[in-house]
Amino acid sequence: MLSWRGNFIGGRFVRPARPRFFTSEDPGDLDHPVGQVGESASAVDLAVAAAAGAQKKWAAASLPVRRGLLRRFQKALKRRCGGLVELISRESGKPRWEAAREVGRMIARVDEIFEFAQRRVQPYEFSAGSGVQAQCRYRPQGVLAVLGPFNFPAHLAASQFLPGLLTGNAVVFKPSEKTPFVGQWVAEFMQEADAPAGVFNMVQGGGDVGRRLVQHAHVNAVLFTGSYAVGKKIQQVVLEQPAKCVALEMGGKNAVIVLADADLKLSAREAAVGAFSMAGQRCNATSRILVERKVAPLFIQYFLDVTDRMKTGYPLDPDVFMGPLVGPEALAAYQEVQRKALQEGYVALRAGGPAQVPGRRGYYVRPSVHLEKHPKIQAKSVYRTQEWFVPDAVILVTDSDEQAVRLNNEVPYGLVTSVFTKSRKRFEKMYARIDTGLVNWNRGTVFSSGRLPFGGTKASGNHRPAGMFAIDACVYPVAVLQDRRPAGERESVPGLTV
Ligand code: NAD
Repeated sequence: MLSWRGNFIGGRFVRPARPRFFTSEDPGDLDHPVGQVGESASAVDLAVAAAAGAQKKWAAASLPVRRGLLRRFQKALKRRCGGLVELISRESGKPRWEAAREVGRMIARVDEIFEFAQRRVQPYEFSAGSGVQAQCRYRPQGVLAVLGPFNFPAHLAASQFLPGLLTGNAVVFKPSEKTPFVGQWVAEFMQEADAPAGVFNMVQGGGDVGRRLVQHAHVNAVLFTGSYAVGKKIQQVVLEQPAKCVALEMGGKNAVIVLADADLKLSAREAAVGAFSMAGQRCNATSRILVERKVAPLFIQYFLDVTDRMKTGYPLDPDVFMGPLVGPEALAAYQEVQRKALQEGYVALRAGGPAQVPGRRGYYVRPSVHLEKHPKIQAKSVYRTQEWFVPDAVILVTDSDEQAVRLNNEVPYGLVTSVFTKSRKRFEKMYARIDTGLVNWNRGTVFSSGRLPFGGTKASGNHRPAGMFAIDACVYPVAVLQDRRPAGERESVPGLTV
């Protein structure tokens, strides 16, 4: 069992006096939990006070000093990256290959921020007429609350707090209660990087701690990544705080559209990887596949063939493609999808059910695939309403590009759509009507670039994308006008003689 060190406040780990304990499980090996962690909502006040106390001095530090912290954090991360990969796998249930990609992206993010994000907040200046100089400058928001999900427990939070620190904010990070030790390690990296006391803080806990943090009067901005249900609650609790910047990165119900001229083997592989990597627990997972009727039988054959080859197992064992679901609620959601899909008349091409992994007790399930041959608009259907976040995909057979776009857009989310076609004209025509924030062409839904914005429309986000654009939510612009003209040269005002 790992040892809990407490919250990271004012530059050191401190244990609250009367914590409420919870267990960090290993969802792939329930007989060996990762450790016990304590939470206390009152720690939020201490962490926010530490951040508020340190922020002004940090903002006044030079840019090279702030860049230096990010670089040292990156070094600490590189030094312990092997251990972090294993910890992410154990707490989130993500197989080693996916955890290694997460850590790799996190290491790369520091350079991407220096190279690309920083440009987004460059002050600019121009002459606004003779003798008048105009400037746009950027100020840090102040204290940032960063709340992370379990599925990318290190990288997604870092993608928000790193640009936040670079631009002169102080941070209070609350990791998911499902991945608290990853949160502890992230705080250790900051300690090893010599972050000035109070500039970076971390508090452990679940929803109560999160709620107290987002509504704290001295938190100036909330950068949240998680479910729509929680994002909506956050918006509700900050209703009376209109000056608070709230950036919400939420769920998805993402489609792959396969047109008749597509490379079918390629699209089948990308769709299957998108549907079942991390056991379907990704915001950009493929949960709907819209395939043109002419090629549907062959596509389905290829898709099922790839699906059947996916190896499920303990995340840290070699050659495992898919690990377990993260916990009992996820397992219940998976069972509910199976039940509802059959009830509503979808055909099970691969029926869901538990998967056995010898020697391990965990939330292991098989990928499931359902089919609707003649899609009708069923507004309340299991595949048209909520995000389920499980390894299940539906194939809907389509008769026209218009129908594919309509089915793509009918869901309440708007994160990613992938279009597979060899025709630029067909892609562009579809792109013009697709309503998601990310549109991939001949690439599956789970592929994104760290140098681009990442965020969606409708229930997926509130138009403050993360990725390279996360830095936008960390600052606010200030307009500065300097008039060098003496009084005699200023504009005359009608009706005024001085
Ligand atoms: P979640 O919404 O259950 O939890 C996210 C965070 O919010 C956790 O730290 C949790 O403790 C905290 N929280 C819970 N209740 C709160 C409250 N009332 N006030 C403040 N904070 C509260 O999400 P999860 O299960 O950890 O992650 C899965 C979800 O995240 C999925 O919906 C997925 O699509 C989404 N997600 C989105 C993106 C994206 O970039 N759009 C990326 C990854 C995950």
